[in-house]
Amino acid sequence: MLYGVFSDVHSNVEALDAVLGFFEDMEVGGYLCCGDLVGYGPQPNEVLDRIRSLKNAHVICGNHDLAVVERMDVDWFNPYARAAALWTRQRLSPESRGYLEGLRARLDAEEFTLAHGTPRRPPDEYMLSAAQFSDNFESVKRWPLFVGHTHMPLWFRADAAAKHGAEVTFLEHNQLVSLPKEGDSRVAFNPGSVGQPRDHDNRASCALYDSAARTFRVARLEYDVEATQAKIRAADLPEFLALRLAFGQ
Ligand code: ZN
Repeated sequence: MLYGVFSDVHSNVEALDAVLGFFEDMEVGGYLCCGDLVGYGPQPNEVLDRIRSLKNAHVICGNHDLAVVERMDVDWFNPYARAAALWTRQRLSPESRGYLEGLRARLDAEEFTLAHGTPRRPPDEYMLSAAQFSDNFESVKRWPLFVGHTHMPLWFRADAAAKHGAEVTFLEHNQLVSLPKEGDSRVAFNPGSVGQPRDHDNRASCALYDSAARTFRVARLEYDVEATQAKIRAADLPEFLALRLAFGQ
């Protein structure tokens, strides 16, 4: 099965449409979404309508999704994230709210595990280092693991080829990764962020996972950043949330 893998959409419809159009062109048969569908951006309901309509989609929630439906405290958020979470709370349609309330921040499937941050602390722990990856081994039932939350396209591994224990690698556009043959090899991927990339590349980030060929490939896609910025300003969301999109941070 060819899966479209994506995360951290953050209410950015222009970026999501670029990603979903790419997945359609690639004729994916299913979707893996690692959470943070809303927060930061100007169009939460439009994003949720699109994600709810996807066929064969495995979707989890993130810390921002939990905050907007009051399942997590916004006091821990930075001021921009908090302002956007409170703004989103007041604008969610009943359908959007109901959908978010039904999501969990971790999903254990037959052939993979999804967790927003880490499997150990799904909503809020960041997985950026090899040590943070190794610390989570015991919490994974099925490999590969797919995560989001850091907004960085990353590949973690601890197989026979990784001679010095666990390793973490930044993934460039179009870089093809072949997973180890053994189904239980410890491998994790982050597809980067659709709606708010933070690796100084402002293109939307997503990935293709081929579970039969055992390959993973990140794709970076141009989208209309200025259109999203204009909507953020029209919504009176913090100016910083518009500016950061141009710089990919
Ligand atoms: Zn996020």
